[in-house]
Amino acid sequence: MKKSTIAIDTKLPRRDAYGAIAMPVYHTAAYEFETAKDMADAFCGRVLAPEYSRMMNPTVMHLEDTVKALTEAKNVFAFGSGMAAITNALLVFVAQGKNVVTSRHLFGNTVSLLNNTLSRLGIETRAVDLLDLNAVREAIDEHTACLFLEIVTNPQMEVADLAALAEIAHEKGVPLLADTTIIPFTQFSAKRLGVDVEVVSSTKYISGGATSLGGLVIDYGTFPVVNQRIRYELIPNMGSYMSPHAAYMQSLGLETLDARYRVQAQNALALAQRLRAVPEIKLVNYIGLADNPFHDLAVRQFGDTAGAMLTIDLADRKACFSFIDHLQLVRRATNLFDNKTLAIHPYSTIFGSFSGKQKAAMDVRDTTIRLSVGLEDVDDLFEDIVQAATQNNRL
Ligand SMILES: *Cc1c(COP(=O)(O)O)cnc(C)c1O
Repeated sequence: MKKSTIAIDTKLPRRDAYGAIAMPVYHTAAYEFETAKDMADAFCGRVLAPEYSRMMNPTVMHLEDTVKALTEAKNVFAFGSGMAAITNALLVFVAQGKNVVTSRHLFGNTVSLLNNTLSRLGIETRAVDLLDLNAVREAIDEHTACLFLEIVTNPQMEVADLAALAEIAHEKGVPLLADTTIIPFTQFSAKRLGVDVEVVSSTKYISGGATSLGGLVIDYGTFPVVNQRIRYELIPNMGSYMSPHAAYMQSLGLETLDARYRVQAQNALALAQRLRAVPEIKLVNYIGLADNPFHDLAVRQFGDTAGAMLTIDLADRKACFSFIDHLQLVRRATNLFDNKTLAIHPYSTIFGSFSGKQKAAMDVRDTTIRLSVGLEDVDDLFEDIVQAATQNNRL
């Protein structure tokens, strides 16, 4: 079956007593057993039955099962947020004295997780330029726990060559962990490109309407330690499993993900093309534009769509603030891939706590606005963006 069908038609793990067509929300912390033996079997993993919702919950399991069917993964684990998924995935591999090889372009909290939290535990981060494959090869040594990257960085929009980077990681015997939040897994197969463990902030495309936080670890089974540690050690010990209510909302989101994504990606491409003709907009960065340096790689990896995130550069910070202040339809908010179009100035917000020098090293510019394109009519979006970008001239 095609992905749009699988997203709608993954069966519930068990027929509901009333034949409910949507997955019921199991708002329960614990589960009652018939016998002592049933209880022992569940607790020791001899039968797959939930005993306590910190470890397992039927509503969450249904979301995990649907994602498993969509990605052809060996195991899927759902967490309370994207950051919880990233933390748990990294904790499978890291230990004191080990290092993580990664990009100098990463999501702000992932940078802080590596440089502050994990570094306090004696784990080193080696941030390299992932476009320089030799630098990646040289950074990996016998103490490297994993190669961690984002498939498209934000806000720089740099695309990682997954097959080439997977080959380097595997030559050295280390797993490739990829944060694929920016392009949904209904659109491409990270598994086929050599990714061992995929992490996704399901807060974004999957939730859709900004209804809930969530994160997924998608394990392709190439490193058996992932299943062992996450299922039996990290989920019980870290206590960051997804809540049933979030899983319910995200299962609903998943059903319409492919349809929503196609419209959003189409809107993003149309906007990127049209915004290039606006004189106040100095630069439009979108990997779906044919002359973008990453366009060919993006097409090869992700197919006929290029996501719904783009950036525009204006003259200076003042022009960016004025632009944001004058938006009438587009919302002033962080988050990505909401149904509503969102705008943010990453330099002063998401990266606000980094020094100017750190931001320069990460190629985060004071002139950049990030747009996450939603489901509105593209003419309305264009009109709002143009009027906000030209306000400065009118004052
Ligand atoms: C939002 C985001 C995260 C963090 O996810 P949360 O669900 O907000 O914890 C991680 N990586 C990327 C690329 C993101 O966009």
